[in-house]
Amino acid sequence: MRKSPGARTLLLAAILLIILLATVSRTQQNVQGADRGTVRIKVDQVGYLPHASKLAVVDRSTATTFEVKRASDDRTMFKGVLGPPRSDADTGDSVQLADFSRLDQVGAYYVDVPGVGRSWTFSIRPDVYSRTCYLAMRAFYGQRCGTAVDLGGEFRGYVHARCHLKGEFHPSSGRPGEAKQIGGWHDAGDYGRYVVNSAITMGTLLWAFELFGPRLRSMKLNIPESGNGVPDTLNEARWNLEWMLLMQDEDGGVWHKQTSENFAGFVMPEDDHLPSKVIGTGQEPYKSTCATADLAAVAAIAARVYPPFDAKFAARNLEAARKAWFWTGKYPNVVFKNPPGITTGEYGDIECADERLWAAAELWRTTGEAVYNQYFVEHYREYQASLDRLTPEGWKDVAAMGLWTYALGARPESDSDALADIQNRTLRAARGIVERTRKSPYRVSLVARDFVWGSNAVAANYGMELLVANRMAGDPGFVEVALDNLHYLLGRNTFSISWVTQVGANPYHHPHHRPSGADRNPEPWPGLLAGGPNAGRQDPVLLNLPAGLPAAKVYADEQASYAGNEIAINWQAALVFLLAGVLR
Ligand SMILES: [Zn+2]
Repeated sequence: MRKSPGARTLLLAAILLIILLATVSRTQQNVQGADRGTVRIKVDQVGYLPHASKLAVVDRSTATTFEVKRASDDRTMFKGVLGPPRSDADTGDSVQLADFSRLDQVGAYYVDVPGVGRSWTFSIRPDVYSRTCYLAMRAFYGQRCGTAVDLGGEFRGYVHARCHLKGEFHPSSGRPGEAKQIGGWHDAGDYGRYVVNSAITMGTLLWAFELFGPRLRSMKLNIPESGNGVPDTLNEARWNLEWMLLMQDEDGGVWHKQTSENFAGFVMPEDDHLPSKVIGTGQEPYKSTCATADLAAVAAIAARVYPPFDAKFAARNLEAARKAWFWTGKYPNVVFKNPPGITTGEYGDIECADERLWAAAELWRTTGEAVYNQYFVEHYREYQASLDRLTPEGWKDVAAMGLWTYALGARPESDSDALADIQNRTLRAARGIVERTRKSPYRVSLVARDFVWGSNAVAANYGMELLVANRMAGDPGFVEVALDNLHYLLGRNTFSISWVTQVGANPYHHPHHRPSGADRNPEPWPGLLAGGPNAGRQDPVLLNLPAGLPAAKVYADEQASYAGNEIAINWQAALVFLLAGVLR
């Protein structure tokens, strides 16, 4: 076709536009380049609440002072003196604190230390954690199984098609044929679904809603159910709860997990065609006590939380919880081990009495029926010392959940000795954690023994423990130190890295997470918390790091590092709890 003069003008205009866009894009890159922080200054890259403590950790240098500058015009808004240099045994670092707590004006800032450089830009705002909380909770939607997922909007291209639409019973389940279990959340970087890990996850999330409901109630997640009149946190939690309920057999027992026989490759979920199998203990009664008691606890919480939004669903949960509880009375300690030929996560636990204690306490809190109180009062002493350890709870040790819920849900008929004992021990432990953290050069609650598989979950769970203690007896120190652990996760750590994907100016980039590895997006799926440093080194990447590294340094941002860089729903839930607890 012959070009008309009009077309030629259009072409010229298009070329000019391309040149203009290229210039603008280069300018933006330059701005970003100038904006680059140094890893030698460690800040919470999201930021700080206006009236909270604000500390940066700075590598030791000859500098004695620091300034906090406004990002928009580089104007100095605060001048301070660096704290004395201190050695941190867990990282091997020598660091100084920059305290700018008195700067409470809303804005975007960076810390500038002469001769060291400038930090990443961060904010001081009352709603500083809202977006991170949104992304962290919405990350569960990205983990949905049995349906198509599309993060849409600003996350165009973050999609997966319907997956794992068929289930079958593995011979170890005691049942032949096809299984109707579809749905739930992919547990972690893999596509398995595990009742035990789902339970601590759901307990943590539903508690977050119970404790911090007014703040979570208004959080819209932009998920398919949004706008149905139910708070989105509960909409999203229900997706996984429905699957957990499907894992309950007619006799009340709950099968332990639903996975393929071996882990799938690094493919999108819809491309994983390994049969998804409901797996049991391999002999009568085929279901496991830990999984069954865990479901009883979670369904009992759901029966408290959902009534204002869906009374029928709440009632279904209460019935499931009662049936599960009854089953655990008949089979008090049927433990699970991977049957021959199964190599996916085991979530094995030889002791299910703590799960039963948790279930009894949640059922008592929900129903007020004496039988559950009686069980709790007869058994809580076996676990009361677990509150003294200054170590948070986890998927395997849920006794603290049982003890705390008994105290948080006190009734006139509750045992007063038990209430006093739980409260005293919890507050004493929380004070111990606060004291210890204030002495830590990085102001984090983690100690050397905590740098295990999922150490970031341990940090988040210290935060949860402190916020639970704060609910029992308000103490600004508990909240301050809970925030310290959040600051650690969001960048105030030896790597000056944010351990939440797409959050902060210097986030990690390579989670062990199949959709992030298999899709074509340049960045991983947003809002996902990494496992964190792990001195146990249970993967080849960590094993290859230099020998003699201090515990807190045993980490590499590599996809192959499943023991250090995997995501998982249980630590994701602890992060949501911590964020929800400090929302304003
Ligand atoms: Zn799936």
